[in-house]
Amino acid sequence: MPPQKPPGLRALGPRFLIFVLILFAVNVWVSQLIPSGHERIRVPYTPTFLQEVKQHNVKSISSRGETIQGEFRHEFKYPPTGKDSKVSKLFNTEVPTFADTKTLSAALQEGGVQVNAKPAEQGRGFLANLLLGFGPTLLLVGLFVWFARRAARQGAGGGLMGFGKSGARRVEPSEQTVTFEDVAGIDEAKSELTEIVDFLRSPDKYRRLGGRIPRGVLLSGSPGTGKTLLARAVAGEAHAPFFSISASEFVEAIVGVGASRVRDLFKQAKEAAPAIIFIDELDAIGRARTAGSSFGGNDEREQTLNQILTEMDGFDPAIGVIVLAATNRPEILDPALLRPGRFDRRVTVQSPDTAGRRKILEVHTRSVPLADDVDIDTLAATTIGMVGADLANLVNEAALMAARREHEKVTQADFTDALERLILGSERKIMQTEADRERTAYHESGHALVGMLTPGADPVRKVSIIPRGPALGVTLSAPAADRFSYDIAYLLGRIKVALGGRAAERLVFDDMTTGAESDLEQLTQIARQMVGRWGMSEAIGPVAVIPRDGQGPLLPGTSEVSEQTHRLIDEEVRRLVERCDEEVRSLLSANRDKLDALVRALMERETLDEEDAYAVAGVERPPPPGPREVLETVSREALPPPSSG
Ligand code: ADP
Ligand code: ZN
Repeated sequence: MPPQKPPGLRALGPRFLIFVLILFAVNVWVSQLIPSGHERIRVPYTPTFLQEVKQHNVKSISSRGETIQGEFRHEFKYPPTGKDSKVSKLFNTEVPTFADTKTLSAALQEGGVQVNAKPAEQGRGFLANLLLGFGPTLLLVGLFVWFARRAARQGAGGGLMGFGKSGARRVEPSEQTVTFEDVAGIDEAKSELTEIVDFLRSPDKYRRLGGRIPRGVLLSGSPGTGKTLLARAVAGEAHAPFFSISASEFVEAIVGVGASRVRDLFKQAKEAAPAIIFIDELDAIGRARTAGSSFGGNDEREQTLNQILTEMDGFDPAIGVIVLAATNRPEILDPALLRPGRFDRRVTVQSPDTAGRRKILEVHTRSVPLADDVDIDTLAATTIGMVGADLANLVNEAALMAARREHEKVTQADFTDALERLILGSERKIMQTEADRERTAYHESGHALVGMLTPGADPVRKVSIIPRGPALGVTLSAPAADRFSYDIAYLLGRIKVALGGRAAERLVFDDMTTGAESDLEQLTQIARQMVGRWGMSEAIGPVAVIPRDGQGPLLPGTSEVSEQTHRLIDEEVRRLVERCDEEVRSLLSANRDKLDALVRALMERETLDEEDAYAVAGVERPPPPGPREVLETVSREALPPPSSG
């Protein structure tokens, strides 16, 4: 489960501009509210001023040139009536140049007035100005920082158990219910961690023998393969407290908070030792330092990373704190993290194979009442490419489906329908004209027929013109067995199948629709990787010149790319795809009768399963796969799932 993100600085990001605007407005407002200096009333020299002097109401004056500033003994109202009149002790007046200074001095003495006790004011002082100008800003910024810190703290710690400043979640051994029993299908990873469990259980045994225990273990694998689950199971097996935090939370925190959270987290864990610290999404802070990273967040990231490294270097492994971290992109991690004494042990969590999926399904159906017809083996065989989280989700969906249908137990049909929904999206009812449906039927039949007629392509499992999710129809092809790598023929097959929909539309209607967009994206991605990553183009040769997923920064292990190479990649991709497109178009026009037959059947029945589809088209179904000669292969993680809209 991805931990909830605290509403830190980044959460406020888009609102920042508004915030600044409000700040500005408040500043203007406040500076107008506060009068410049003290309010002084302006009184005439004669008669008012002289009169007041005579009546002993003037306490003191200071003069500058012709101007006299002074203070009355009692509040004075001027003008005496009217709505403009003001009340104050402070006043100004102008001494006319023709006034007789002798009489004035005499009058002042007579009236007991202090003269020039203070220098005349020259408006607001510099400091006052500064304070008035920036005071409100400082106040608001202060408040903002305070709120953000508080929010970050509460947001992260408020989950299971509020936990100090670190924002981590802490699970006590007594609450920890996950054990190795709950983790299935990833046995290698599991067995690599049993040693850790043993150490946490009886650290003395290891201490006595002086064995070196790893401080950090890096779990790497695709999302949903069970890395978090595994870490929790280690804590559960060892009866150790489990502190977990997601590295992305550090990055989102306000500057300076990340490092102190790390410090706090390690402190808490040491006090609770033996204990497990689990850092999810380590790549969020641990990616290799590159130039030109995004605004702001970088310093924070680096500080946090450094703090983690310092903590890991600093503690004595014998105290029994083990740091587990998870990432799905180990290749981008800063090498500093992987040095001895840090995350020097690396455990790869593989996507499960058929047997593994079977075991995972068993774990998750333990508490689900299953009907007799449920066949876990078949389910495991038809869920190729799915990981633990997908399978857990599948079981859950099937149970919901069964509940909706008011079944006593979950049946096989519930499972297959749930699976279909997960893979293809749920069916959508929209009004369509016959012409639109026919168009979709040609598009899908194009995909399907190319799939059936291309040797090495995945068998076609289902063709349908029922709209699902964003797509108007689907063609699902899936391999018959787990594949761990792909050869060129297979990849070209994937490209051709993706092109089939658009090619059929062109053949029949002589134009195209926007419906092929996702097909084109998929095939472009495959073609680009063939050319730029897997060395399958003569012109580029066996060098990796584009990033793994086709975007983002170049990774270590990728060759520097010149402008010219870029152009060459583009040309090669284009050449590859255009060659495939030509082949597909001639294949379809040579088999127009099969295409039309598929369309007629689809218009009538909306959905064809594997058997019907092959029968309608009159194509022999492919034999189950035998051992195949592997020519050139790539890892299967690199491909999008094989279904075409
Ligand atoms: P990751 O951390 O690798 O992204 P998680 O550990 O969060 O994956 O997995 C999410 C959920 O999927 C788990 O809580 C569990 O229910 C299920 N799951 C994943 N892998 C497995 C597995 N190997 N065995 C049993 N259940 C699994
Ligand atoms: Zn399509």
